[in-house]
Amino acid sequence: MGTTRTRNEASGNAETVREFRAFHEGDRISVLLPLPIGGAYDYVVPPGLNLGEGDFITVPLGSREVNGVVWGPGDWDVDARKLRHVTGRHDLPSLSADARAFIEWVAAYTLTPMGAVLRMAMSVRSVFKPTAPRVAYRLSGPPPDRMTKARQRVIALLKDGPPRTLADICEAAAVGASVVRSLADGTTLRRLILQEDAGFKTPDIARAGVQLTGSQADAVATLNERLATDEFNVTVIDGVPGSGKTEVYLEGIASTLRRGRQALVLLPEIALTARWLERFEARFGVQPAHWHSELTQSKRRRTWRAVASGAARVVVGARSALFLPFPELGFIVVDEEHDPSYKQEDGTIYNARDMAVARGHLSNFPVALVSATSSLETVVNMGNGRYGCILLSERHGTAGPPRVEAVDMRGVDLPAGSWLSPALAGAIRETLAAEEQVMLFLNRRGYAPLTLCRNCGFRFKCPNCSAWLVEHRRVGSLMCHHCGLSLCFPESCPECGAANRFAACGPGIERLADEVQTHFPDARLEIVASDTLAGPRAIQELIARIEDREVDILIGTQVLAKGHHFPMLTLAGVIDADLGLDGGDLRAAERTYQLLYQVAGRAGRAERPGRVLLQTYLPDHPVMAALVAGDRQAFLDREKEARQRAGMPPFGRLASLIVSGRDERAASDVAHRLGSEAPQGEDISVLGPAPAPLSVLRGMYRFRLLLKVARNIPVQKLVRGWLGKVSCPSNVRIQVDIDPYSFL
Ligand code: ADP
Ligand code: ZN
Repeated sequence: MGTTRTRNEASGNAETVREFRAFHEGDRISVLLPLPIGGAYDYVVPPGLNLGEGDFITVPLGSREVNGVVWGPGDWDVDARKLRHVTGRHDLPSLSADARAFIEWVAAYTLTPMGAVLRMAMSVRSVFKPTAPRVAYRLSGPPPDRMTKARQRVIALLKDGPPRTLADICEAAAVGASVVRSLADGTTLRRLILQEDAGFKTPDIARAGVQLTGSQADAVATLNERLATDEFNVTVIDGVPGSGKTEVYLEGIASTLRRGRQALVLLPEIALTARWLERFEARFGVQPAHWHSELTQSKRRRTWRAVASGAARVVVGARSALFLPFPELGFIVVDEEHDPSYKQEDGTIYNARDMAVARGHLSNFPVALVSATSSLETVVNMGNGRYGCILLSERHGTAGPPRVEAVDMRGVDLPAGSWLSPALAGAIRETLAAEEQVMLFLNRRGYAPLTLCRNCGFRFKCPNCSAWLVEHRRVGSLMCHHCGLSLCFPESCPECGAANRFAACGPGIERLADEVQTHFPDARLEIVASDTLAGPRAIQELIARIEDREVDILIGTQVLAKGHHFPMLTLAGVIDADLGLDGGDLRAAERTYQLLYQVAGRAGRAERPGRVLLQTYLPDHPVMAALVAGDRQAFLDREKEARQRAGMPPFGRLASLIVSGRDERAASDVAHRLGSEAPQGEDISVLGPAPAPLSVLRGMYRFRLLLKVARNIPVQKLVRGWLGKVSCPSNVRIQVDIDPYSFL
């Protein structure tokens, strides 16, 4: 085994010198495999192969051949005759030491096997398979003797543009493949092989951005100073919606690129719209690489490879983009840092915001957290000086903040099955009369959250979960929002056989839409929820329809709260402002505040002031009071004090154990043994075991335990020791959730 010292040229910093180990014939190496339960295994390097740490290789595992990563030297105590040979090395850039250190850190922090974390970094299987080269066509000669309309369209398309692929041409020119091929068989078109990196153009930092206002320019100067240190620091960019936070961090990206590093912007998936990409393009002249769930396999493959080769300089993506194999990452922006969707709840349970900060810390580069409603964790870190802060307090343009009013529902007498107060209905009428748009917010998908039989009292319940089935009337089904089960809505009661005796209980957005339509028969309604808006394309189409004023009233769930601003939308109505406050979730108030603030922020832009009505039975609740008074600080102070008193995060640490199994007795037994072995000591307490609020999910019985410790106690160590004391049969699963956000 040889040791080479290489200079980390990426950072251009002569002082960063890392150990890099190389392995040759006969060396034992430790190989990490991307398997959910696995870790590293030892192999031997065969003759003729030279490997380095971080190399992507193939190794035999049982009768299969699997991909893995060279993790380090192997263990010399293992009998060499038992070890198998590495079969080959992939022709890919190796996984950087930083990326490997990050995988190790995430595994240790979340208490998941390293293989499960590596799997997230190797999620694109096709990256490891050779694929046919991509062929493109360009115009290269005179038009053919025999001209057709179709041929003309192809030639016109390629005349001024870049080379295009066959599929691309067929779609854009509306021709069949044979038309293109016949032109290429002649001299008109020429075939060329596209580089894999084609399409990842270097952003042009010299282009002029928007003319920044004075306070924005100050913000950029502060941010760039903090970036220029080339060291780890966290900067919070906090400011009202529309104040230019995005413009500010785009400049931070420019200065990162200037220093020769890659940049990553994390966005909640729903906010990753064409609009955001356009703004990036306006600033840098090219599109960034993007990463989200709607990408095709071949796009994923190209993006993954372009990130690894360094051809993609900026990536904007949903939380999983954190695990892309950046060799030269130098800045991460987490936009909407408070967003709960950064928490991944299955598989490896992690919070992408926190992991982004960890990634910056491990690799010693700056991170920015951006929000109009920063999380309490972030606010506290600003207060104690751990994070720097840039505050943008004015909306760009002339619009002031929206006027927020609470509608006290205690005094409103509504007929059964209706939810619209006269005050809100009146405001809608005025808005429509002024030819402006309305948004109604209700965080409940479907028609009604519960359906029962009036004859026998039967309630539709999910057979797999402890949850009611939700009627989705437009598609004629009953659905479980937890496991995805979908049944046809029956004509008669499965219990007593009575026909058409069903009663819907409570409102969902579809039912609300029916009510609104009876009040405003001429208004054009649009229902928006996560199930009606799948992916960025659907979002883009919706945005276009709203901007073209094809919609008068938008009715939707929290997907409406994020992202886009519509200049003609001047009224936001919240049907049930108290909805999120139910249940004992420690962040219920904070989240409700953030969500309603975001909803409110949708109303009014440009020169049109916005108006927001909150229907509530708790008009004096601190959340409502803060929203009405526009006093975030008062709310934060209260919330902070309450958490501090209770020793809750960010002043204490939490870890949840979720014990589940198809066999209720077995799961309960493990949960109770965990309960009796619970760690004890000063500043350590354990709640439970208790059946989870969602006590059955997908047929699994669930029990929860919650560990709460003081901040200075390393919770991972405690949990590891705890789990080590209790044996767990194979039909029971224990999930660890460090810093839990969901308590269901
Ligand atoms: P935030 O991220 O704080 O919500 P944005 O950066 O998205 O704010 O800015 C809101 C809108 O105002 C965007 O359309 C943006 O292009 C525009 N804007 C912000 N600052 C300026 C500026 N200095 N000049 C021109 N337009 C600006
Ligand atoms: Zn279910």
